[in-house]
Amino acid sequence: MTSVATGFETVIGLEVHCQLKTRSKMFCGCSASYSGAEPNTHVCPVCMGMPGTLPVINEKAIEYIVLTGLALNCSIPASSKFDRKNYHYPDLMKGYQISQYDLPVCKGGWLEIEAGGPARRIGITRVHMEEDTARLVHRVDSATGEAYSLIDINRAGSPLMEIVSEPDMRTPEEAREYLVRLRQILRYIGVSDANMEEGDFRCDANISLRPVGTEAFGSKVEVKNMNSFRAVHDALAFEEKRQAAILRAGGQIPQETRGWVDERGETVGQRSKEFAHDYRYFPEPDLPPLAFSPERVAALRAALPELPEARRRRFLALGLSDHEAATLTDARERATYFERVMAAIPADPGRAAKLAANWVLGEAGRWTNATGLPIEALPITPAALADLIAMVESGAITANVAKEVFDQMAATGKSAAEIVETAGLAQISGSDELAGVVAKVLAANEKAVADYRAGKDAAAKFLVGQVMRETRGRANAQAVQDLIARELG
Ligand SMILES: [Zn+2]
Repeated sequence: MTSVATGFETVIGLEVHCQLKTRSKMFCGCSASYSGAEPNTHVCPVCMGMPGTLPVINEKAIEYIVLTGLALNCSIPASSKFDRKNYHYPDLMKGYQISQYDLPVCKGGWLEIEAGGPARRIGITRVHMEEDTARLVHRVDSATGEAYSLIDINRAGSPLMEIVSEPDMRTPEEAREYLVRLRQILRYIGVSDANMEEGDFRCDANISLRPVGTEAFGSKVEVKNMNSFRAVHDALAFEEKRQAAILRAGGQIPQETRGWVDERGETVGQRSKEFAHDYRYFPEPDLPPLAFSPERVAALRAALPELPEARRRRFLALGLSDHEAATLTDARERATYFERVMAAIPADPGRAAKLAANWVLGEAGRWTNATGLPIEALPITPAALADLIAMVESGAITANVAKEVFDQMAATGKSAAEIVETAGLAQISGSDELAGVVAKVLAANEKAVADYRAGKDAAAKFLVGQVMRETRGRANAQAVQDLIARELG
């Protein structure tokens, strides 16, 4: 596969940092849900890095990282340990970060992606555990023009998982697809909200180019500061072109870190001190090694929910289209809602799947788009939606009326039967009542009746439309057509 940079092959690897959705921080009892809290209110001596304190491992965080590894087809070595990564930066409270060096919790997995071509497996090198840093806020004093920085320790010590891919991606599109699939999996297994804009899902990318047909890697550039999937894609597409132009002109790519400047749509070189670092990793003396028995790993594997890809395949087997299966499995809650609706519809599985998909992607989809709320907030239970669908299937109400009933159900939380009963929305089934309306419409529209007799299709449609209007959509269109044909035939 060659990239847009003709003559070169692009090589991309991604490092994702993802905050875990645990109640407390990684090594202390402080609450990890500090979003929106006053700065420096979720702190204690441990996460402030006070001398003499001791960290305690958050078991839930370890479970989450093993679950992630299993979902990404990694192996879980029997033992693992924490290491100290030594560096000095104002956002690092202890002067070192507890991370993992040579023995990560998970290694050697893969994630399948499909970016406009056949499905490909992208290797996962490792998934390891570390702690997040504090947050620095840089300001400029408006009066003196002096720059200063504030520190918020709320984030310090939050459980952070790093997922490192192999350099297996070949296009910016593949990199974006990898991130989309990865985020979907993390959300499915419930370990992270993985919200890129909120900063709990952050991505650094390594990108290099090499002449097509060669094996040796070119010198790589690390790109940072990308806050959306689009930014990752655009930054990599920019780098691909920039590096190709340099190489084509006979130049060399210096190994460096570059930052993506979204407003300008370009990457700029950053101080390359990152590469000069010697972190002097050594085993964390304050924490015991981690041990994973095969039984514990098996129990966690059994606790994994069905993953998005497997669910998508199962939905396809129900006869749903690619688009329907992909959209329904986009979020786990939507897929589950769909399955509950389907199970409650009294029809054969294929028909029930189609009907449920139409409503979950149709009316329910419109509701979530309009309200900006997830489907689990819809005041209509899957069983109540299935009842509504069954009423249309049995002919108790028309499809048009059903949409109106859906809106009322969403607004009031009442059942379809109750709304239909109270508002008199049942389909007109008695032919006497319908015949009366048809006779009235024909009498009032002499011109259309004449046109109808002259064989004009538009006149037939018009007359049916008039009857539907009279009945507020409660009539069966086929029955109306038959009645008109009988009256005028
Ligand atoms: Zn703390």
